[in-house]
Amino acid sequence: MPENILIAIAWPYSNAEIHVGNITGSHLPGDIVARYHRLKGNKVLVVSGTDSHGTPVVIAADKEGKPVEEVYKKYHDSFIEVFKGYGITYDMFTTTHSENHFKVSQAMFLALQKNGFLFKQFSKQWYSPSADKFLPDRYVEGICYICGFEYARSDQCDNCGNVLEPEKLINPRAKTGDGALELRDTEHFYLDLSKLEPDVKKFLQERAPHMRDTVIGESLRKIESEGLKARSITRDLDWGIPVPVEGWTEAGKRIYVWFEAVIGYLSAPIEWSQLQASSLSGGESSDPQSKGKDAWRDWWTNPQAKQYHFIGKDNIFFHTSQWPAELMGAGSAFMEIFAGEKVPLTLPYDVPANQFMNLEGRKISGSGNWGVWGLDALTRFDPDALRYYLTVNMPENKDSDWDWAEFVARNNNELVATWGNLANRVLAFCYKNWDGHVPSLEDMGRDGVSPSEGANGEKGAETAPLRDADLELLKTIENGFNTVGAELEAVRLRSALGEAMKLATVVNQYLDVNAPWSAIKVDKDGASKTVYTALKAIDSLKIMFSPFLPFTCEKLHGFFNYETPLFGEQYTEVVKDSLGEHTVLRYKPVERDGIPPHAWKPSDLQPGKKLNQPGPLFKKLENEVIDVERRRLGK
Ligand SMILES: [Zn+2]
Repeated sequence: MPENILIAIAWPYSNAEIHVGNITGSHLPGDIVARYHRLKGNKVLVVSGTDSHGTPVVIAADKEGKPVEEVYKKYHDSFIEVFKGYGITYDMFTTTHSENHFKVSQAMFLALQKNGFLFKQFSKQWYSPSADKFLPDRYVEGICYICGFEYARSDQCDNCGNVLEPEKLINPRAKTGDGALELRDTEHFYLDLSKLEPDVKKFLQERAPHMRDTVIGESLRKIESEGLKARSITRDLDWGIPVPVEGWTEAGKRIYVWFEAVIGYLSAPIEWSQLQASSLSGGESSDPQSKGKDAWRDWWTNPQAKQYHFIGKDNIFFHTSQWPAELMGAGSAFMEIFAGEKVPLTLPYDVPANQFMNLEGRKISGSGNWGVWGLDALTRFDPDALRYYLTVNMPENKDSDWDWAEFVARNNNELVATWGNLANRVLAFCYKNWDGHVPSLEDMGRDGVSPSEGANGEKGAETAPLRDADLELLKTIENGFNTVGAELEAVRLRSALGEAMKLATVVNQYLDVNAPWSAIKVDKDGASKTVYTALKAIDSLKIMFSPFLPFTCEKLHGFFNYETPLFGEQYTEVVKDSLGEHTVLRYKPVERDGIPPHAWKPSDLQPGKKLNQPGPLFKKLENEVIDVERRRLGK
């Protein structure tokens, strides 16, 4: 029975370019797990979008003298280019600045209000008399009263991660304007997280057995030591989602960005369904996931669905506490308001948050250009070379470091030498010596397929007359689908890729022993068996590597001359609504009758199969790359 898997990935904020730390932190692990589950035949939906509201983008627009919408869209479009370039297969990468997201967020607000989890309260906020407006959040910076960090925002400290009370900030200063500030009273809505604390604790304790220690430990510790406190969920700002309460929008108030951005995990699947439904009504879609505009409910009102949240460690609180609290607080009232039917929403299953990736020993930072930027790196390196290094170095349980010398070494010693050369030399040797075909049964010393075997075309491969050592190798490789699969299932991606690479080493050892390059001159039958066995092992390893290295595995798949590709296609679409238009990144899966044609299972490579002309999969990098890349840093 296929499982319904929602891969919910952190929403990148629209005031900075995506760097390798962001990619390895959330987008890449989400994509690897998604590709694996698609191969398993599970129903996968991968969603995210641009976090378009809040003060940082408004401040950036103020500084550039441009409309906020233009600034957010510039980043949104570049995010889409990054994800296309790295093959991050979003079924729906959208934006929080859409009519659909507004409606869903407002319904969530109203559901929480209906259930008694919202209250109104006055508080002190920084106000600029010269600009005649409140300056919320990042508009004001100062010294953190908890850790002493100099550049804390008035709402939150990026150094210690604490939520701050604006009036306690030390030496507050405005990011824009003349700087003169005063505290004034302002009224806001608060989400009463304290009332939901027992539910959040229970939610976390139930999931503790399968969640990362770094995530569950931090979350429970924080609740134990500080408790969950009410948080304001509106702001004095005119860019964002209107508060669905009479008079509030006119008073210049909007829903707080952190309350609504997480709701994107729900609104994006709803928008995806609407697009699926409209392509259905156009009559040309044969996509079996198209169940019309309610398709999203397979992941959201189905208690069996598994939702995974791929995020960085700075966002753990919002995903292990605030977001589940919003969902539990809304209960069945959300669906009642939104769809006229009282059913609860599905809660997250796992939050496999990653730690941070640094760069050459220092924190990645846009100021001072200390970064390896997503789009820029693609101009000099192939996406799979980057994906490989970002996976072997993924900060799963502790911070990791991007080191250019290590990047070159691992590319050359592992990706090129162990895996790439294995695939290339066996295929090239076979192509040249067996006339562009996989060795046939006849080549292997057999007169051909008997009539009964011939009728059952699938069986041909199993009847190849192989030796014990050949069968043993194939058995070891077959078992990899369990061991690599188990690691992927548990979101231990470094370990999963390491397992697959170990198996490539085993095939290399097998070839060293059986040396078909010399055996061919004296024992063509034996060499045929070795080459057939190695090709079958490589064809299986191709599937195991494909979630990590989709571009080169697709290329390798082409050398094996299969009719249908391994993976589907990414494409963009423009959505028009009452707010204007926005581009979305989407994915069309490759399926036959709802089943992926190439699944997570061992190869059944047929003897005698025609091959295509093979070529190298990866590029060896020169050592000069290290210095050239290091010189770019900080400039
Ligand atoms: Zn601090």
